[in-house]
Amino acid sequence: MYPQSSSILTVAEPRSEYGSKNYEWVEVLVDCPYAEGLYTYRIGDEVEVKAGDILSVPFGNSVVGAIALRLVSQPPEGLEIEQIKTVEDVITSGFFPPRYWELLTRISEYYLTDLIYVIKCALPPKLLGKSQKRVRLLFDNIPLGAENFCPRIAWRVLELLQNSKNGDYTFSYINQKVKGARRGINDLVKRNWAQTYLQPPAKAKPKYQKVVTFISENSSVKITQKQRDVLATLKINGGELSQQDLMQKCELNSNSVINSLAKKGCVVVQERESLRLLQNSAPAKDQPKILTKEQQCALDTINSLQGYSVALLHGVTGSGKTEVYLRAIAPILEQKKSALVLVPEIGLTPQLTDRFRARFGSQVCVYHSGLSDGERYDTWRQMLTGEPQVVIGTRSAVFAPLPNLGMIILDEEHDTSFKQSQPVPPYHAKTVAQWRSELVDCPLILGSATPSLESWQLTTGGQTPPALGAGRQTPPALGAGRQTPPALGAGGQTPPELGAGGQTPESEQKNHYLSLPNRVYNRPLPPVEIVDMRHELRKGNRSIFSHSLANALGNLKEEGKQAILFISRRGHSTFVSCRSCGYVMECPHCDVSLSYHYPKEGATQLLRCHYCNHTQIHPKHCPECGSPYLKFFGTGTQKVLLELQKAFPELKVLRFDSDTTSTKNAHRRILEDFEAGKADVLIGTQMLTKGIDLAQVTLVGVVSADGLLFHSDYRASERAFQTLTQVAGRAGRGDDPGQVIIQTYSPEHPVIGAVRTHNYSAFIATELEQREMLDYPPYGSLILLKCTGADGNKVREAVEAIADVCEQILPDDVEILGPAPANVMRVARRYRWQILLKSLEPFSPQLKQELLTLKQYCPSTVSFSFDVDPVRIE
Ligand code: ADP
Ligand code: ZN
Ligand code: ZN
Repeated sequence: MYPQSSSILTVAEPRSEYGSKNYEWVEVLVDCPYAEGLYTYRIGDEVEVKAGDILSVPFGNSVVGAIALRLVSQPPEGLEIEQIKTVEDVITSGFFPPRYWELLTRISEYYLTDLIYVIKCALPPKLLGKSQKRVRLLFDNIPLGAENFCPRIAWRVLELLQNSKNGDYTFSYINQKVKGARRGINDLVKRNWAQTYLQPPAKAKPKYQKVVTFISENSSVKITQKQRDVLATLKINGGELSQQDLMQKCELNSNSVINSLAKKGCVVVQERESLRLLQNSAPAKDQPKILTKEQQCALDTINSLQGYSVALLHGVTGSGKTEVYLRAIAPILEQKKSALVLVPEIGLTPQLTDRFRARFGSQVCVYHSGLSDGERYDTWRQMLTGEPQVVIGTRSAVFAPLPNLGMIILDEEHDTSFKQSQPVPPYHAKTVAQWRSELVDCPLILGSATPSLESWQLTTGGQTPPALGAGRQTPPALGAGRQTPPALGAGGQTPPELGAGGQTPESEQKNHYLSLPNRVYNRPLPPVEIVDMRHELRKGNRSIFSHSLANALGNLKEEGKQAILFISRRGHSTFVSCRSCGYVMECPHCDVSLSYHYPKEGATQLLRCHYCNHTQIHPKHCPECGSPYLKFFGTGTQKVLLELQKAFPELKVLRFDSDTTSTKNAHRRILEDFEAGKADVLIGTQMLTKGIDLAQVTLVGVVSADGLLFHSDYRASERAFQTLTQVAGRAGRGDDPGQVIIQTYSPEHPVIGAVRTHNYSAFIATELEQREMLDYPPYGSLILLKCTGADGNKVREAVEAIADVCEQILPDDVEILGPAPANVMRVARRYRWQILLKSLEPFSPQLKQELLTLKQYCPSTVSFSFDVDPVRIE
């Protein structure tokens, strides 16, 4: 057993013809921190192994879990047959759905990442951790008086086991009881008095919960006020709630009120099985809505899709895309298939999840990295059952092991959080979703109010369909539903790939553009007012709120409305500098200034680095010249909050950013509190832009758009347009019309103009032109090579050597940009340099193989990595 390179494996499918009958050897991934690469084991006569099985194998002195990757007829060269150990047992078979391995292999090859890392990224963490390692005595082998010729620790382990019922305990229990037990166990195993084994994970047991159901008011008995409240709460919640939720909602400390209501025959309390992953109360059942003509048109097309195809559902904010998803999924479930719904962030899932659960009840399950390891493991097993279900999750849910996948939906498909940059593999969930749809032959639906240029290009061929109506009253003549794809532009022979450009003639039938140009009930899109902050300053207004925004905020209370304030940065201020000498407080580990954090009056004043999280106390005096005059620049969420409280003490405010949502369920709590009217204003960062649908919000204020507008990255404009349009789209989603106020020092910026007029097509046309001119995606393809290390000179030497090799091995049509230092060259004491490769043709697999050899030009002190199809180059 010895690690081998694993980057070009062809992995067998877990099908019966690949059973171990004809193979004597299996290559496995061992679940052990110090195992590296693949290890080969012998398959004994007693077991049958298939690729994808979970095994227990001897490793070092113990038995560990492993995943069978590939069956081979020959052990690898240079390995002595006698050295190869034998697979102990098959613990679980069929842990992966069909064609799953093909997907993982494809990711490994495309993203230049070892298969092992792809597997680790796909599977729930500590997958094998649930298989308990145990030790059992082999009583027959233990001689009488064993204690006399046995080391002390071994004897203590032996004694412990002998006193147990079956001579059998878990490894961790023994370790708890006997200090240094591992040595003792090894000793017993060596003497063949005991053996270790892996206990397969226990079958998930259903969990039960108490549910309270409303029966009748029962006028013949007397009811207290408290009891009446409980009944009223039940009635507004559809007549049924879990006991826990009911107690919480009515602020009951015990269940005695509920019990007396049960005695009086007003309610019944029953034990019922609860889906362990959906502990929150089920939302009231909801019925399909009568679709608008446009929604119906889009749905008809989606329903007609056969097998693999990509449909872009381009609907303005509040146009009812979610309703279309719900209706598209219903027939999939009826066909006993499952659907996968991917969303950008957990902050967005509670609301969306509720809407899905209101429609599909317990068939909905949630999978994202915010779940505990145990929850992820349980969900994984539950998905494998093959029961028709809807899985909603973030990026990593694209790996959900659904055996009968009938549809994949990516909501807010333009969102860059679908791209993982670290750790490897640097995959884009949209690209992976596309491959998965292809492999299992099912449709992929991409939804957005601001589609990415890639998806737009793929489904429209870059031609502009009729303009999306900005609050138009009548639907445009051609507007809704299916468009005949225009003749496809130049592209090449490779299959279409999101994020990598290129199209084939066959894709004509495979790609569809669907549009929802109007909000439901023809609600207008909110008018967007642009405020020139330079002008405010000239008028003598030095506050962070313009007159317009201050006015609107001042009217909130009176009108009983709510507002959202968007700030592009958390913290208080973006940097602190000395008024006397100009010294800027910088992070000692990174090339960035420190942000000032002052969450509330009286709190400790801190400086924090947003790159490495370095934190220090804010000094009273300038460290350079001792001057006490330190000034704060830039505006973060905390500062806006403090200013708002000063200017409008009557307004209640909630903050929604990564500082306040780091705990579990915090997203849900903050949004629920806001929806329940416990605050007038929600202040937040990027998170606010994502799919929040709150009817009472009429005012959206962007405190400063400038932080979004100026970045060196080629996608900066696209991102700024998307963010601003999305945040504007939170206003006026209910019956009352909305209002958006964007404050900026650069009102003439083209992005601002496009946001003001809700003109996606015009924006995208200009943007596409620029991308085409420079061969950027969706026209060309990019690979970013990154070198980092603690020694700046070493990193620079390495990256220059790599650039030289690139010049030699890459064809002329691949442009080599750099090497150049990253925008922030030093982060957490590591220097960062990069090279950008740009090619009009997609990078071929052969070329990628060549790129893999570049690693060898880096000394061990410099780490080297690839980012294939990078979405941020900073
Ligand atoms: P989007 O996802 O496009 O921003 P949503 O799906 O959130 O829009 O829909 C906006 C609101 O309109 C939601 O509250 C939704 O329940 C409602 N809605 C959607 N479709 C319809 C319809 N056909 N009739 C009535 N209301 C609808
Ligand atoms: Zn100073
Ligand atoms: Zn730092």
